[in-house]
Amino acid sequence: MEHQPYIPGFKPADSGPLSRFLPPLEEGVISAWLSHQTLTGNWLLDPFGFSPRLVLEAARSGYRVLVTANNPITRFLLETFANPPPESEFIAALADLGAIKKGEERLAGHLQSLYFTTCEKCDQQIQAQAFLWRKGEDTPYARIYECPHCRDAGEHPATDEDKERAKRIAATDALHRSRAFERVISLNDEDRVYAEEAIQHYLPRPLYVLTTVINRLDSLTLSPERKRALIALILLACDAGNTLWAHPSERPRPKQLSTPSQFREHNVWMMLERGVSLFAASGSPVPFEAWPKKIPESGGICIYEGRLKELAHEVKKEIPIVAVIGSVPRPNQAFWTLSALWAGWLWGKDAVEPYKVALRRRRYDWAWSATALHAIFEHLNGLLADGVPLLGLIPEPEPAFLTSVLTAANAAGFKLESVALRTEHDAMQVIWKTAQKPKPEIADKSVLQKAIFEYLCTRGEPASYLHVHTAGLIALAEANMLKQPELEFDETLRKVQTLFSSALKDDERLTHYSTGENVDTGMWGVVSIRLTNTGYPTTIHTVPAIESLTDLIEIAVVTYLQKNPNAIFLELEDDLYPRFPGLMTPSKGLIYAVLNSYAEKNGANWKLRDEDAASTRREELKIIFGLIEKIGKRLNYQSSVNDKVVVWKDNGRIVKKFNVLASALINRALEQADEQTVIVIPGGRAALAAYKQERDPSLKARLKKYKLVKYRLLRSLLEVPILTRETFEEQVASDPIEESKGQLMMF
Ligand SMILES: [Zn+2]
Repeated sequence: MEHQPYIPGFKPADSGPLSRFLPPLEEGVISAWLSHQTLTGNWLLDPFGFSPRLVLEAARSGYRVLVTANNPITRFLLETFANPPPESEFIAALADLGAIKKGEERLAGHLQSLYFTTCEKCDQQIQAQAFLWRKGEDTPYARIYECPHCRDAGEHPATDEDKERAKRIAATDALHRSRAFERVISLNDEDRVYAEEAIQHYLPRPLYVLTTVINRLDSLTLSPERKRALIALILLACDAGNTLWAHPSERPRPKQLSTPSQFREHNVWMMLERGVSLFAASGSPVPFEAWPKKIPESGGICIYEGRLKELAHEVKKEIPIVAVIGSVPRPNQAFWTLSALWAGWLWGKDAVEPYKVALRRRRYDWAWSATALHAIFEHLNGLLADGVPLLGLIPEPEPAFLTSVLTAANAAGFKLESVALRTEHDAMQVIWKTAQKPKPEIADKSVLQKAIFEYLCTRGEPASYLHVHTAGLIALAEANMLKQPELEFDETLRKVQTLFSSALKDDERLTHYSTGENVDTGMWGVVSIRLTNTGYPTTIHTVPAIESLTDLIEIAVVTYLQKNPNAIFLELEDDLYPRFPGLMTPSKGLIYAVLNSYAEKNGANWKLRDEDAASTRREELKIIFGLIEKIGKRLNYQSSVNDKVVVWKDNGRIVKKFNVLASALINRALEQADEQTVIVIPGGRAALAAYKQERDPSLKARLKKYKLVKYRLLRSLLEVPILTRETFEEQVASDPIEESKGQLMMF
């Protein structure tokens, strides 16, 4: 399989509204992919409707995108992003809401007062940003605030007054809670119990604020645009108000509807205010219509609020789809259940009805996922012409998710064309083409073993289980060995996973670097393998030995910078990824580690350091050779230089071989190393060397056997007045590889 290069995004995943539930996709990927296609029309289909940003980007690239979205919340987000009300409408909407009278008070003042707390330092009454709770307790244990009077900020223990206030609000909870159900589901509905359970993930105070605000939504007379702005803000508040905010946690992405043992209760009114800036800056508007209304040829979004199944024959008749795009959905019980709840709150029971099943269904396992995806892929294959490409982005790829996606697609007749994987933190990019449904074959362990072994040999260094698993899945897909004949998806997935487990455990050519027993932990590598020059792996030591991927990336980055001074990171990615496609895609962390070692950043531009210009390095190498010879002379050794290696001899017997590098290509140096070898690297390479051995357990193990020193150690040794052979050995043994400095991205 000829894998496509990974397409780098130019902007990290958006942190906008509800981003913790939306697929974390870099911006720029879908437009770059589309620009490389030669398509005969401009109708695209997103059958998943899972990522509003992805659809918008395609529409902005001049395509007409038909989207099926049965989740009312995703649909609303898509519409709001496509045609965002101006910021002034958000501000006005919030002002209108806040100005409503609640008794003698304004609503804004009333709701803010629910979050009053006393500043620990200046004793003023201020609003808390959040209260912190332990699951199951009836009062908060701490509060977080930023005092506008004395600037005191941070987390402080909750006061008696804070606890009293929480209890007072809880006393009227039953009433508000039953109002909250009634907007979602009828009293006699058998699914009522599920709605009740979902609402359990709201504390009394946020529930009170939300129901109070939502009840005013219907009575306010607002222009459609201002109403849309207000609904958008309330939607954010609905998410801010639940208990799914683990504390402390940096970037939570909840999948299950379960309350963490410690969590934050946000100040919902403050979150309404914050929403204003979150929704503004959504970019230029995009034509947006609901099926069957038409959108202009210049591009736009046509949404179908239902399932693909119902749309299939209409599309076939009227719309020539030239490519399929989408973020492949991974089950998210938390988001799906909450979406049903929020739809009821925002638009009433009728809006929940078509999506009500999301309230009821509680467990989404991978077999469920494979079955659901398979149904979508089947309908897709039915409505598309042969050979139509599908670009699927798979965010947060994890082995079981990948098995489920690739199995579902393969069984429905989508032929796998390419897989590009960077790290577990990046969306995987998969390309399929519609084809005939294959005849399923029984999965064969040797197919897996061959694929995994060959992948690891090509890589020349250990790989994460995710990479190994993906390499295996690709081989199974090519051999039509994913969906097992006569087996349902649950049995198929179990069987394939068992096969992976035994394929890895039983292969003596492989070695597992892990603190855990399970095959899916840690990293996998091959046992001291060299490749012959014909490319076939053999355990016999034969030259040329394979270079590790990490070393090859180092060479490629430096070569690129030599030819292209002042390059920006994205240009470098554009150069590297096509040369290291598919599962060989280097991580950003690795590229940055090389850049930081060799280059300086000036604005966005990277330039080789002066000392790393090739000519300067050559000069320095000569100096280091001279230095080693001088030290040797003081220790009464005879020196000779042979192809960058300085050899010390004692009466004809070799005692030391100094392999002097200007790079951190340690893997290569280790290939020729023996007991006498000392690898010498510039100090500027030490952090890169440390990075390499931290990400490569095999390198780390081998480096323990050999000595690695920096140029500067040799320089300082020459200054030592009395140098003996013993002190020399001690000094060389004690030169540590530096810990990586600063914040290096590990992967
Ligand atoms: Zn204060």
